[in-house]
Amino acid sequence: MPDAAVAAHERGIANALAAGWATLARGGTSVDAVEAAVTIMEDDDTFDAGRGSFLTRDGRVQLDALLMNGENLRTGGVACVERLRNPIRAARLVLDKSPHVYFVGGGAEQFAAQHGMSLIDNAELIVPRERNRLSAFQQNEAAGGADTTFSGNVEFTLANPVISTGAQRSGEIAALDPVRSSTDVVLEEAALESEVERALPENLRFDDPTLHSHDTVGAVALDQYGNLAAATSTGGTLSKAPGRVGDSSLIGCGCYADNLSAAVSLTGWGEPIMKLVLGKWAVDRVAAGATPQTAAEEAIAYLYTRLGGHGGIILLGPDGQLGLAHNTPRMAWGIATTQGSEFGITRNG
Ligand code: ASP
Repeated sequence: MPDAAVAAHERGIANALAAGWATLARGGTSVDAVEAAVTIMEDDDTFDAGRGSFLTRDGRVQLDALLMNGENLRTGGVACVERLRNPIRAARLVLDKSPHVYFVGGGAEQFAAQHGMSLIDNAELIVPRERNRLSAFQQNEAAGGADTTFSGNVEFTLANPVISTGAQRSGEIAALDPVRSSTDVVLEEAALESEVERALPENLRFDDPTLHSHDTVGAVALDQYGNLAAATSTGGTLSKAPGRVGDSSLIGCGCYADNLSAAVSLTGWGEPIMKLVLGKWAVDRVAAGATPQTAAEEAIAYLYTRLGGHGGIILLGPDGQLGLAHNTPRMAWGIATTQGSEFGITRNG
């Protein structure tokens, strides 16, 4: 996320945070709140979710989303949907109205349509900026340039990871994280492009800063009834193969919620996150006694040391304690409590 793109990210996060908080403030559940927050971010072209997402290799938008209720573990997920403006709403329908957990492709769209969602033309999800980005990427690929997506060669993304120690972090979170009420909503979307940008050939370093700022979105919330929820939504990675599903919508990978442990949403290079089932790994640490902040840091350190992965995580415990970590230079985030809202573009503000 270059400096000039920060404002768009902050605006998007603030809008999402306001929607999530308003939902909680009028007595809505944590599931309602994360759905509302993620819907706003799906509708905002700034993010890699809903309209404005990265394009597949064949120039389409394919979306994945998951929503989980920590009270009863009810879960709804959709993947590879192309005709839904808000996949998180389809995920909510799966959670509410189906005995199943996960639908993909045409079956997911059909299920959503049967429950009242409109099916749109895929072109409505595509913005010109993304056509340009895909075409520049593919030209570079044809010219033998490096694969600059997260699914590319691990080696070139490993330079200068940013991982802080638990000791350093615990002092910082105290400043960021005042005592919470039981109505917290935390939102994040991550900026994972920086390592990639450093390796980009000139023709991919667009002047338009929004071209560099595309990120999966997620939200975690704790409501006044004491229940946690989590939601994650994504367009996946640039030039992904049609049919590829990342971590974001896979239960326990990019999203998970359980009142007995924590609620989590992740972003980052999906394949390593999936291999480590990192969302569940992180909430299990909280259940075993780690603070959410420690568990968040450990999860990101594990992602990197085990598989060279890059990403970001938000983790919310049943007592309202927040964990936030990323090993990318920036990750836009926001948090709202009864004591007000805070925003940042790195873990430190
Ligand atoms: N995790 C997403 C995926 O791999 C991408 C991202 O978070 O930016 O599909």
